[in-house]
Amino acid sequence: MLNNQSLKKSHHLHQRKKMDNLVLPDCWNEKQVVVFTEQYKWLEIKEGKLGCKDYSTVQHLGLKAEDHVHMSKEWIAYLVTPNGSYTTTRQASLQKKIKEHDVSKAHGKIQDLLKESINDSVSNLVHKCNKNIDATVKVFKTVYSLVKYNRPLSDIAEAVELQEMG
Ligand SMILES: [Zn+2]
Repeated sequence: MLNNQSLKKSHHLHQRKKMDNLVLPDCWNEKQVVVFTEQYKWLEIKEGKLGCKDYSTVQHLGLKAEDHVHMSKEWIAYLVTPNGSYTTTRQASLQKKIKEHDVSKAHGKIQDLLKESINDSVSNLVHKCNKNIDATVKVFKTVYSLVKYNRPLSDIAEAVELQEMG
C-alpha cells in the first residue's frame, strides 16, 4: 500500500529525473547554460540544441509574424549547434551564433511584436478594470444613498437593477 511518504518520494524522484533529462549542448556545462539563458531570455535548449523561445510565443499568440519575419529555420526549429572540433572553438561558435541572432532583424521584429501584444493586453486589462470600478462605484453610491435615507437593504438589489437597466 502506498502511504504519503512513498508518494512524496516518488514525486521527488520523478522531478529529479526530469532535471537530469535536460540534454546540454556538448560544449556547455550547467554553469554556461545558466549564464547564457540569464543573459538571453529568449534562449532555450531542447535535446542539446538551441532555439528561440520568443518565436514560438509569437506563434502561440497567433500574431502574424510569418509574413514579414524571415527568421532562420534552425532558430525556429531548435536546431542550432556549434561548429568546430575543440570544446573551446565550439563554445566560441555557439556564443557567436547567439549574439548574431540576438541582434538580427528577424529577432528584433519578433521582440517588437511581443512588446506590442503586451501593451495591447495591458491596455485591455486597464480598460476592463476601469469598467469594473465604475460598476462598483455605482453600487456603493446606491448603498450609501439607501443607508442615508434609512431605506431597508432589500431595496438595494432593486436599486442596483434599476441602475443597470438605466
Ligand atoms: Zn529570436
